[in-house]
Amino acid sequence: MTLTKKIIIAMVAGALLGLILNLTDLNAQQAVDVYVVNGLFHVIGQLFIQALKMLVVPLVFVSLFCGTTALREPAMLGSIGGRTLAFYLLTTAIALGIALTFALLIGVGSGADISTNPGYVAKEGKTFIEVLLSLIDNPINAMAEGNLLAVIVFAILLGLSATLAGKAGEQVIDFFKAFNEVIMKLVMLIMHFAPYAVFAILAKVFAELGVDAIKTLSGYFFTVLGLLIFHALVVYPLLLKLLSGLSPLTFLKKMEGAVSFAFGTSSSNATIPVTLRTATERLGVDRSVASFTIPFGATINMDGTAIMQGVATVFIANAYGVDLSTTQIMMVVLMATLASIGSAGVPSAGLVMLQGVLLQAGLPIEGIGLILGIDRLLDMTRTAVNITGDATVTCIVAKSQGKMDQNTYNDPAAGVIRE
Ligand code: ASP
Repeated sequence: MTLTKKIIIAMVAGALLGLILNLTDLNAQQAVDVYVVNGLFHVIGQLFIQALKMLVVPLVFVSLFCGTTALREPAMLGSIGGRTLAFYLLTTAIALGIALTFALLIGVGSGADISTNPGYVAKEGKTFIEVLLSLIDNPINAMAEGNLLAVIVFAILLGLSATLAGKAGEQVIDFFKAFNEVIMKLVMLIMHFAPYAVFAILAKVFAELGVDAIKTLSGYFFTVLGLLIFHALVVYPLLLKLLSGLSPLTFLKKMEGAVSFAFGTSSSNATIPVTLRTATERLGVDRSVASFTIPFGATINMDGTAIMQGVATVFIANAYGVDLSTTQIMMVVLMATLASIGSAGVPSAGLVMLQGVLLQAGLPIEGIGLILGIDRLLDMTRTAVNITGDATVTCIVAKSQGKMDQNTYNDPAAGVIRE
């Protein structure tokens, strides 16, 4: 059996177990809550997510360093960077456009009961200037804080210097090439634990969430869910086909593994090791492109998040009886795009970003309290969309630069992990 199949079975089984615990009220019993849901399940899931996080910084650094040194013409870096950024912005704009139009058309949130709002305490977000300044930092500090943008900048600069440094540069390159292989080995080892972890994570989420929360917010929930699925299964495949001529079906099939990791972890950052492996070994993208576009995308490209924010803004405006003006809508588009650039791919980052969007659009921040209860479930789904977007753009850019091995792309068995 392939590992991906095992993970999917584990996900479904975990969700079912969680639902059973919730529906039978077993999760309300203290022993089950303390020892099973918040004990066993929590520890297993969290250990796995932390193991992925353990890999992210060294993996991004080493693999991007190797990627940069493998580019025979350093000028290519500019062209890859420019195209990647343009496509990331384009996909986010499409996501927002579709989400806002649809949410406004169906009037999501009209008639919602705001008297039940549990409220929301604003959390500290980053200003645009802070984001700009965080691009360059002491590398040790950036690594310790998980500031991936600064790690990316450092890895590229060091990679470029290594190619210019003659013999000394070659020695460093050889060392990191070997290091890269060792880290990829560790990625593989850790991935074998994924089915158990995903089972535990989903069992905990569903045991705690239940179905009542979804019932009361079904309009919002299913609008976001439907749009996320539409974006992943219609917009990305269309873009991939039109802009690169690659088969969308093959792409979606090969993304199954990475998508289930994103779903289980709710973090694009923690999923980087898996997305990167999928791009290079399953989809045939050259490391020199993927090692840049995947971590870059995990940090700045969040189309699923943009969809949630578009719908949430309209939902909150309608719930509070505010008629959004055209200027406010333009503000939402601008702020949500900027916010998705400035935030890290970690769980619930989208909610913190939503504060800024609401603030600029002149809407009440405490409105976030209305949608808080079911955000965990939507976070899982939008993270899956976020990384699918990163991989789509990666394939389009790689293909346009002649950095894609189409035999690997078309080979169904390429990079499959078997148990
Ligand atoms: N969890 C999402 C991600 O990592 C961000 C969000 O909260 O929307 O991509």
